[in-house]
Amino acid sequence: MRIARPLHFASLSIIFFSAALRADESKPVSNLKVGVAKVVITPPDSAPTVGHPRPTKGARDPLRAGVLILDDGKTRAAIATFDLVDAFDSLVKRTRAAIAEKAGVPPENILVNASHNHSGSDFDKNPEWADDVIAKIAKAASEASANMKPVTVGYGVDHIGFSINRRKVINGRAVVRLNPEGPNDQRVKVLRFDDGESLTPVAVLMHAICHPCFFTWGDNATEPHPNGFPMKSADFPGEAQTFIEKAYDNGTKVMFLQGCAGDIRPNLPGDPYRCADEADIQWAGRDLGGAVLKALAKSMIREERSKRQTHYKLKVASERIALPTKDGGKIEVELMAMKIGPYLLLAMPGEPMVEYGLKLEEAIADRAVPIVLGYSNGKLGYIATAAAHSVGGYEPTQSPVTPEAEEILLRGLNRMADRVVGDVFETFNKHPAEVKMRVEKER
Ligand SMILES: [Zn+2]
Repeated sequence: MRIARPLHFASLSIIFFSAALRADESKPVSNLKVGVAKVVITPPDSAPTVGHPRPTKGARDPLRAGVLILDDGKTRAAIATFDLVDAFDSLVKRTRAAIAEKAGVPPENILVNASHNHSGSDFDKNPEWADDVIAKIAKAASEASANMKPVTVGYGVDHIGFSINRRKVINGRAVVRLNPEGPNDQRVKVLRFDDGESLTPVAVLMHAICHPCFFTWGDNATEPHPNGFPMKSADFPGEAQTFIEKAYDNGTKVMFLQGCAGDIRPNLPGDPYRCADEADIQWAGRDLGGAVLKALAKSMIREERSKRQTHYKLKVASERIALPTKDGGKIEVELMAMKIGPYLLLAMPGEPMVEYGLKLEEAIADRAVPIVLGYSNGKLGYIATAAAHSVGGYEPTQSPVTPEAEEILLRGLNRMADRVVGDVFETFNKHPAEVKMRVEKER
């Protein structure tokens, strides 16, 4: 008896101690569940390198895709990311079909984003590799869906230093230059999903804005790769994924979301710029990776963690709209809004200039935390602002759509935001045009 008593107290105190620890670590009491998986999709040598077409042999680092499944108890959604140059229409369609089949996510609730990597291959032109990519996505969707767990969501912002605007207006005409005075957005936005058991996140979404074209054309004088880097690579988004995952002992999965990077590129001065070497890509990978690590760490300190919600509503809205093309026709594109609690992903296809993100944010920031994506859910090409069209230059010249596309796109994305954020406002809005639209929608 004399021995049993202290033992009894000892075991009781262990129970109390662990209970206290759990409460202090704020084990999530959240309705939101996520599951995540990543796969290597490096193209074979037989699939030519696009973005900057050039002869390559082998891969410097792996190209990857990620699948994140989200479920709030009512709605199921997914985000799929690719270290590829575009969200090819066929890639979007087949990715959605695979994730729908393997993870039970409605296709219209699946967001597909490409990093705009200039050292990968064309999904449409290499059918064998494309089939392999889709088979791997299906496998990733099964794996992610089999490992769903409740999480809370942390958010943080930090900055990169390697991106720069590449347009300069001289005597009323835009030319290709590295322009530190031009519009830019060096913020890195980070979402982390935590199960409350560990200080290592289950999954990380990082959002940054810059062309992954470190390994494209060098100028005449620049060694060592005057004709472009001779290997496939996932460029800086891949380098950063690896850097962050290593920092967490490969216990987490990091996915990259590309923003409005139409006129933003790596700051590699040359004539007008140079191709990156090994030091350059390590700089960018560590710069972005370091910024993400800082944001991730900060969002776990007690004061930040206490701000987390315990209930996350998941809402997705999408719409196909027509944009006027330069040849007098129309092109259909898909716009999407995905809201995860207070965080709002707004996605458009193609390569919007950086101003698109800034303008949308200004319109939305009082109602949600906006994260604006280009290169999503379809392929389009450059989307210049109306103002950029008036001074010309590379992006407006290459753009398939007219200056009028800007207003249509901005309105459309604001409408998508309203559908996932502003329910109450929409219901009570008595503007005749809105009422008419509502009546038509209900019909
Ligand atoms: Zn581009």
